[in-house]
Amino acid sequence: MVDNCIFCSIVEKNIPAEIVYEDEAVMAFNDINPKAKIHIIIIPKKHISSLTQVTDEDVPVLGKMIFSTQALAKEKGIGESGFKTVINTGPDGGQVVEHIHVHLLGGEPLHGIT
Ligand code: AMP
Ligand code: ZN
Repeated sequence: MVDNCIFCSIVEKNIPAEIVYEDEAVMAFNDINPKAKIHIIIIPKKHISSLTQVTDEDVPVLGKMIFSTQALAKEKGIGESGFKTVINTGPDGGQVVEHIHVHLLGGEPLHGIT
């Protein structure tokens, strides 16, 4: 838990979010400003500020995040149609929230978005 981190506040349930999945290590919620019909944010409950800050001990939770992403995609019915997963890192990567997260985007063709 890091003060002034919006995603830590969601983990602590100090601010509301449309939570779609939660276990001991991972949380997922609908993006507040969706860029696709389905746009879910998947985070570790532990505060890790970005992909560049990941350590050896974080490897299991990263696997859990990816596995949760797959499960959510199937649950939302986009396992077959496909989807996009994005991790923005740092200023040039367009990272705004400094708590590592996977974007799961789908429900429509997203060919124009890398
Ligand atoms: P990024 O640019 O990769 O850091 O993406 C941050 C994402 O978090 C954006 O898509 C925002 O719309 C989303 N976001 C910011 N605040 C919230 C919030 N309170 N609840 C849900 N999603 C949020
Ligand atoms: Zn945080």
